[in-house]
Amino acid sequence: SSPTFENTSPSTMAPVEVQQYDYIVLGGGSGGSGSARRAAGWYKAKTLIVESGRSGGTCVNVGCVPKKMTWNFASINEMMEGAKHYGYDIPEGTKINYKHFKDTRDAEVNRLNGIYERNWNKEGIDLIHGRARFVEPKVIEVGLPDGTIARYTAPHILIATGGRPNLPDVKGAEHGITSDGFFEMEEMPPKIAVVGAGYIAVELAGVMNAVHVETHMFIRGDTFLRKFDPMVQKTMTDRYEAAGVKMHRKHPGFKEIQLIRDGKGKDKLLKLISNDGSELEVNEVLWAVGRAPEVEDLHLDIPGVKLNDSGHVIVDEYQNTSVQGVYAIGDVTGQAELTPVAIAAGRHLGSRLFGPSEFKTAKLNYDNIPTVVFSHPEVGTIGLTEPEARERYGDDKIKVYHTKFTAMYYSVMPSEEKAKNPTEMKIVCAGPQEKVVGLHILGLGVGEMLQGFGVAVKMGATKADFDSCVAIHPTSAEELVTMR
Ligand code: FAD
Ligand code: NDP
Repeated sequence: SSPTFENTSPSTMAPVEVQQYDYIVLGGGSGGSGSARRAAGWYKAKTLIVESGRSGGTCVNVGCVPKKMTWNFASINEMMEGAKHYGYDIPEGTKINYKHFKDTRDAEVNRLNGIYERNWNKEGIDLIHGRARFVEPKVIEVGLPDGTIARYTAPHILIATGGRPNLPDVKGAEHGITSDGFFEMEEMPPKIAVVGAGYIAVELAGVMNAVHVETHMFIRGDTFLRKFDPMVQKTMTDRYEAAGVKMHRKHPGFKEIQLIRDGKGKDKLLKLISNDGSELEVNEVLWAVGRAPEVEDLHLDIPGVKLNDSGHVIVDEYQNTSVQGVYAIGDVTGQAELTPVAIAAGRHLGSRLFGPSEFKTAKLNYDNIPTVVFSHPEVGTIGLTEPEARERYGDDKIKVYHTKFTAMYYSVMPSEEKAKNPTEMKIVCAGPQEKVVGLHILGLGVGEMLQGFGVAVKMGATKADFDSCVAIHPTSAEELVTMR
């Protein structure tokens, strides 16, 4: 683990040699890696990455990668359960060896850690493992594993330190886990409470429900995914309930979490006491109530980098912070917290700082970013929700196309299975040209469906452009080009 500096202040330390770089990148996650590789690999800038944890950051170690692998793991169980309707004789009670899967997943993550480091090495990027902080406006200091400290300076310093999961202010909250702890679990708990209503809560509750963990979701509102289109909120929350998730809607919050029995898996027991006095015993509590930017240890007051009310680094459209020569990208800025966003913003910045003059105004356009929630089934969305579009353009300028149907995959299944597995799509169009300003899809396979439609929306496609593309039959996607 990296040394910390809790009891030391910069001024009490002996002077050390300051090594000079062109570009210092704080954090070797999605954004930091993307930016460093562009700067060093393409434009030969002398670049240093400082990484306090495992190379690759959140996405590789405790985010997208292990999450999507776990989604695949759970989807196989759903498919096996559906297989009997196709005539497969799958024995009842087929055992799932979660530990086997977890070990395989860990090995893949380790492999990716190595790939990140080898790529940096190939591109001439120096890597220092340790926790960075500013000691002067353009000098950073890193505690090295051997207990010594090193100092570095560069005209360009990038803050790409990402974020970490929040724990709520509830007595005993520390007895539960966050998404980081979810990926450490060696076995699935028989009964879990998932608290939260965003991407992570919905994705991880969906995974556990699909492998028959008794899953309770505690949400403050009547639906989850409340930043998504109302169609997504309603259909998906109802779908989760129909698929067996025990939804505690409009939950008043928790008074206390008591640890009844310490242990792992079924050996752990917690009592949840809600503010309305109700109680529930579960084997685990997963807090998925949002994430906070990783800024505290950086001493950003030394360069004078400004933060907003939520603690995120304030940046302009070019990722400049309030201090000249100091930049920020990715989750630490709170802008669309997605891996490809951090990578794209980082690459643009690398090109702008070190590339030829035609890149001097390079920046990421944050409009129309497609995103998928790996729920069960998946949700894909790009552009404005229907309420946002009505607000922006006015009711009379908006036309909405909507369809809800059963995908052919479920056609062999009994009606209750069909009802539990909707596919639903909404195209939100604006103006006389019916420009597509929002696209919202949920159902089997939509995660793979959205990318191509994203290109069309980015290009400014109209409903007529969608319709001009001949349908691919039989698919669910064809509905998007045949909607009336
Ligand atoms: P990070 O990847 O978090 O990298 C920051 C790095 O900085 C870390 O490695 C950290 O150790 C290091 N660091 C922090 N402080 C210091 C310091 N003082 N000194 C040195 N190093 C430091 N996004 C998607 O697009 N698709 C998904 O499917 C998806 N799934 C997700 C699932 C989960 C459970 C989570 C938590 C996130 C998911 N995300 C997903 C979001 C995605 O992981 C992040 O948006 C992305 O990793 C942000 O990249 P970043 O470079 O800003 O930060
Ligand atoms: P989100 O911001 O998506 O969701 C957190 C939600 O938890 C809030 O929207 C809120 O919903 C609810 N909440 C907040 N505080 C409390 C509380 N005290 N009690 C109960 N509920 C609370 O955060 P996540 O941590 O889920 O994910 C962080 C980000 O990571 C995402 O926004 C996304 O950008 C990224 N991510 C992307 C993924 C992907 O691309 N597939 C997957 C996972 C993460 P409400 O207001 O309705 O109560």
